[in-house]
Amino acid sequence: MSESPNSPYHLLPAAIEWTDDGVPQSAQFGDVYFSRAGGLDETRYVFLQQNHLDERWRGLDAAQPGCFCIGETGFGTGLNFLAAWQLWQQVAPASWRLHVVSVEKHPVQREQLQRALELWPELKALGEQLLANYPPALPGQHRLQLEGGRVTLDLLFGDASDGLASLLDTSHPLHAQHCGAKIDAWFLDGFAPASNPEMWRPELFRCMALLSHAGTTAATFTAAGIVKRGLRDHGFSIAKVPGWGRKRDMLTAVYTGSLPSQDSAPHGEHLAWHSPSAADTSEVVVVGAGLAGAHTAQALARRGIRVTVLERESQPALGASGNPQGILYTKLSPRLETLNQFTLASYLYALRHYAAPLAQQGEQLGAACGALQLMRSERDRGLLDALREQFQQQDEWVQFVDAARASELAGIAVSDPAVYFPGAGYLVPPKVCATALDHPLITVRSGVDVASLERSDKGWELRGADGETLASATTVVLANSFAARELAPCHYLPLKTIRGQLSYLNADQFTALPNTVICHEGYLAPAQSGTVTIGATFDLSNKDCELRDGDHRDNIEQLRRALPGLLTDSAATHGGRAALRCASPDYLPIVGAVPDFDRFCEDFAGLRRNAKSRLDVSGSYLPGLYINSAHGSRGLTSTPLCAEVIASLITNEPRPLSQTVMKALSPARFLVRDLIRKRI
Ligand code: SAM
Repeated sequence: MSESPNSPYHLLPAAIEWTDDGVPQSAQFGDVYFSRAGGLDETRYVFLQQNHLDERWRGLDAAQPGCFCIGETGFGTGLNFLAAWQLWQQVAPASWRLHVVSVEKHPVQREQLQRALELWPELKALGEQLLANYPPALPGQHRLQLEGGRVTLDLLFGDASDGLASLLDTSHPLHAQHCGAKIDAWFLDGFAPASNPEMWRPELFRCMALLSHAGTTAATFTAAGIVKRGLRDHGFSIAKVPGWGRKRDMLTAVYTGSLPSQDSAPHGEHLAWHSPSAADTSEVVVVGAGLAGAHTAQALARRGIRVTVLERESQPALGASGNPQGILYTKLSPRLETLNQFTLASYLYALRHYAAPLAQQGEQLGAACGALQLMRSERDRGLLDALREQFQQQDEWVQFVDAARASELAGIAVSDPAVYFPGAGYLVPPKVCATALDHPLITVRSGVDVASLERSDKGWELRGADGETLASATTVVLANSFAARELAPCHYLPLKTIRGQLSYLNADQFTALPNTVICHEGYLAPAQSGTVTIGATFDLSNKDCELRDGDHRDNIEQLRRALPGLLTDSAATHGGRAALRCASPDYLPIVGAVPDFDRFCEDFAGLRRNAKSRLDVSGSYLPGLYINSAHGSRGLTSTPLCAEVIASLITNEPRPLSQTVMKALSPARFLVRDLIRKRI
């Protein structure tokens, strides 16, 4: 297999050999993943029983919904995960959710995973759900929602210590107390220390401690000295118990709640500005029922939280999310910058997110018809080469094709090479919003225009233009696009508007119709009910939504340049739609807890003197106020994962993205930048 080991996107997959009795064995570590005779029994004994999961889960309070978190080192074939999920289904209250965070350095490839799971007929149904959602072998975090979101699996592909560290806010001076979500039980798997000493290093135990709370348990099949010392030195009290089968001993451990002091000293970055705490979930109001608001409400409702969505228009999705067709795709960069990490993670999450509703609703909701991004200029061709280099062997979700293959895929003549995204396509955004909002815990109140947002004893008062109270809530999420800036707490956010106009043409104005979405400077989507949508303009100066003839002409000319001969000579539009998108200056969305402007500026006043100051304070945030905005023209792709970001902050569950990316999305980033530049 040819490899590109220099690519930051490259991972060495598991090299599996099958033993004579049909068990997977690692050529990298010279050890089997599990034993054929008792693999599942061993898993149940070592990891489930020794973490006392049966008793703990039966004892969860059904009246107080919550989330139980498991951390695992070495996902392998997912046997431990599936066995835990099965037990969860059998004994945990229906109101609780299971969240498993599992790290894996060498992901098992899909075909091998399928073969390994065939060994366990009683886990077949769960294994099929895992396989249907199993992510491509790309480094970083992949969030899978299983059983309609009752079970969440975060697969962190890469080294165990790096993966766990990416979840920690390493910038906090007291980060043992402030690293956010905690694990309740650890499955300390991974090949034995003798064959895999690399994994069992102090950093691993340190990360485990930082992600544990007093009472977090751990279980591991090994009783090796290096594991005993690692756990003990990092605040776990350990016990040796009889091992499984022929193994004499194994270890169990409980975190005592105190990491030795030298281990909680700050390291890494010098500023702890991203440490908001969890919010009260008794009353949550989401402002805005477009894609950001609808997905946020859905992510909260799936967690058992009752949500009221306030929408100023007469019904959901009348703003930028109201277009009849939107494109689900991504733009790649060969660099490992934060923007690319985010676009990639959100795109792959969106593909999984829409798979089930697309299967249920079919063309009503859209089509995963694939998307071609034409690489037309010299610069584009250079980019194509760089991307091919970085993302080779990722055919499952991205392919690099010549003009002939692009034409075959599109079903029309294309004269440029292209990046092909097989899982991409188009969706009907208002239907996407309606699907997300269709939940018994979500109430939508349309025609409710929030003009002000003020702190009150109870939390937040949302008022109309005449000062009348529209709603009050302990927790509010602003998903109202650029209108968030009209509300006092967000006055400083650099939310800009970008006007975009789509044009509609009758299918008979085309000499041939494409089977896929085609992106050039604009885009073209397959026909829906005899109409082809092309678009969209990108206008920073106008802020109205009137249709402009000039914009229609621009859309048509752009298409003629990219795909000559596709339109008939007399082709003309029969209508269109213009809307205002909302974007930020760095084109990343703005997602997270809203800082308390004055106190935050005081907290970090030292940055005005010295951008590199080490300031041992947390940033001050407005309790219970969050924002999910600035998705530009990529809302279909970015809002499902950003909704998970908001829900994870509100409920203090493991985040779906690394802390580095979380910081890049945070509204506080603008305050930090402006303080450093002495603009505020
Ligand atoms: N829990 C697995 C299951 O249920 O199938 C079995 C795990 S297998 C015995 C050990 C796993 O640890 C392998 O998949 C291996 O690739 C992974 N591993 C080894 N070293 C690692 C490291 N440094 N970081 C993350 N994963 C590692």
